[in-house]
Amino acid sequence: MDKKEKMEKVFDIKTLTSNFSTSCLKEYSNIKIGEEARYLFIPQTYNELRKIIKKARKENYEILPLGGCSNILFGNIGNRFLILDQKLPKSFHVNRDEVVVSANYNLNEFILTLQDHELGGLEFLYGIPAHLGGAVFMNAGAFGHNISEFVNWIEVMDRSGKLMIFDKEELEFNYRKTSIDGSSIDGFILTVGLDLKAKSRKKINSDLQEYLSKRKERHPYNFPSLGSIFKNPEGKPAGKLIEECGLKGQSFGDAEVSKKHANFIINKGNATFQNVMDLIKLCREKVYEKHQIKLETEIKVIN
Ligand SMILES: Cc1cc2nc3c(=O)[nH]c(=O)nc-3n(C[C@H](O)[C@H](O)[C@H](O)COP(=O)(O)OP(=O)(O)OC[C@H]3O[C@@H](n4cnc5c(N)ncnc54)[C@H](O)[C@@H]3O)c2cc1C
Repeated sequence: MDKKEKMEKVFDIKTLTSNFSTSCLKEYSNIKIGEEARYLFIPQTYNELRKIIKKARKENYEILPLGGCSNILFGNIGNRFLILDQKLPKSFHVNRDEVVVSANYNLNEFILTLQDHELGGLEFLYGIPAHLGGAVFMNAGAFGHNISEFVNWIEVMDRSGKLMIFDKEELEFNYRKTSIDGSSIDGFILTVGLDLKAKSRKKINSDLQEYLSKRKERHPYNFPSLGSIFKNPEGKPAGKLIEECGLKGQSFGDAEVSKKHANFIINKGNATFQNVMDLIKLCREKVYEKHQIKLETEIKVIN
């Protein structure tokens, strides 16, 4: 697409939202990798979101909801409509034994807000740079627990702009995967109802500190990353398999297999999409050669 054509498209799309953005995805990506996106939106209202979603459908473009961008590796985005949740309305309510919260809450902020209400359960997720919607979509988990254990229902804006509620029984949660991925439900998670338990502020605080120090001890928090690159196959963690291939510290450009945890790829400065993809390929090849195990990526590669 030449510059003139691109500007015409931008002009047309601009009428959809007051927050059309052409900024670089690197700015939002947790691993600090990403080029300029052709269509990047930051809607402020559900009505704006609906218009964007409808426009994408009409033009036959795929939409990609974005939360904390802590699990997405951005490559060539093409004509996808990328929609950031961060300026959508934010809400938090406690209704008797249920917490109803907008999906754009930063997970850590949410957990600390729950602590103020003396409600616990999600402490194991503390320290993850995600938003609640992304965490539900990925069924985020750690230390033997997954967020799905606490989800009662979700509200989704579907691809026609309609708001729909899905109860827990209608949702399928698996290892870092849910049926909201288009397999049976397709759309933008806007609100989540969660079942959390009464817990003292003091106990929540000590658990948060414990989980956070375990994370910092095991994971490379001093460089940008996307968390675990690969899902753990049955039997042995992906990090151990990669480590046994002697790949800790292996690098392409500024992308490096972390010396601290081999299932993390860190960006030491100006790593590119290709640098990370080359490391992913190498890890897969070496692990297959040595262990005959095919590693599956946990991160979402958008290319
Ligand atoms: C330092 C670090 C530690 C991590 N530790 C863990 C861990 O312990 N456990 C774990 O499970 N993960 C971990 N992760 C990975 C990541 O944080 C999780 O997968 C998280 O759930 C992603 O949330 P997000 O908001 O950043 O989603 P994004 O990266 O923005 O998106 C991830 C996927 O969710 C979709 N999505 C996002 N928001 C919505 C929405 N509102 N509606 C519909 N779809 C949506 C996106 O389209 C995309 O497909 C870690 C990452 C880092 C960087």
